[in-house]
Amino acid sequence: MRRFFAAALCAVLACGLAACSQGGEQSADFYAMDTTMNVTAYGKGAKNAVGEAQTEVDRLESLLSRTRTDSVISQLNAGTANRAVGMEVWDLLSAAEKYSIATNGAFDITIAPVVSAWGFTTDHYQVPDQSELDELLANVGSVHIHLGEESIVTLDDGTQIDLGGIAKGYASDCVEAILAKDGVESAKVALGGNIYVRGSKPDGTAWRVGVQDPENSDGFVGILSLTDAFAVTSGGYQRYFEQNGKRYHHIIDPATGYPAESGLTSVTVVAPGNEEETISDPGHGTMCDAFSTALFVMGEKKAVEFWRSGGYDFQMVLVTQDGRVLVTDGLKDKFEQEDGSGYAYETISRSPS
Ligand code: ADP
Ligand code: MG
Repeated sequence: MRRFFAAALCAVLACGLAACSQGGEQSADFYAMDTTMNVTAYGKGAKNAVGEAQTEVDRLESLLSRTRTDSVISQLNAGTANRAVGMEVWDLLSAAEKYSIATNGAFDITIAPVVSAWGFTTDHYQVPDQSELDELLANVGSVHIHLGEESIVTLDDGTQIDLGGIAKGYASDCVEAILAKDGVESAKVALGGNIYVRGSKPDGTAWRVGVQDPENSDGFVGILSLTDAFAVTSGGYQRYFEQNGKRYHHIIDPATGYPAESGLTSVTVVAPGNEEETISDPGHGTMCDAFSTALFVMGEKKAVEFWRSGGYDFQMVLVTQDGRVLVTDGLKDKFEQEDGSGYAYETISRSPS
């Protein structure tokens, strides 16, 4: 709640009102899905789109949150009986299952009870006992979700799901669809660390998307110049607590039940906007969100192997604990290093050198 008021205050200070308009620019700051969000759009259709985007994110939060007791996800988590969840949620769960299988379980929405055991859903943080984690991990795995016909979903006893690693990405896909419907050709959407840029800036240049320095919240490791793209960052610096001098963050390695310690401090996944090509549902925003979480868990070696395997259309920026920034060659010309950041820069090509 404190965070909500802080965010609301920032929005008011920035605009004088939660939504503001300046020279054809329409912008709204709001707080949803436990993070600060901004939608800025230009030109015809922008005013409608910005309002509708906010309503859409609120709708998705009501549907997908697991801390709201009336959401479909909470009802699934609470009940043992089969439940018709509607095709939208069914499709999203199906995508989550696909990404879980593709990443060998590094991304896994059934990690929910483990995330709770660490206190990340209630902000009452604690380090769980190994015996408790072992018990909870027995119910983790996409095999425990059953996606039936007529949108009926069944969870095995003891299994719960958490869409925190994918919901904002899905929301960015939905916001893209709204911007398209309203005829908006230039927009920037920031749903926490999930960015979507539509077209180019009104002056025709590419949007500039900063990749935050995980070691310095005021600094960047570099800037991406993007048009029509999603860029999603996951990092251990975004949400964490400290106990006995050790930091525990919110991205859990389903193989151990512990916060992932893979040698990476952040992962940014970039993919084209959905209209550029035929894509499978629910879209590239959802894919980027799932993969940024998964690749953070996997670590450098497996992340690079996964990218090289070429099964999915994305590029990435990895920041390592030992001070390197790795940029895949599809972003080479779009990534500008930050001078003096202290990082060593490397490019990753499709075939190992
Ligand atoms: P953020 O929510 O900060 O943007 P992520 O997209 O990486 O970051 O999602 C992290 C959230 O996803 C956690 O807060 C938790 O709800 C959930 N989560 C944690 N570990 C995993 C995992 N291995 N697979 C899927 N979801 C996870
Ligand atoms: Mg994610």
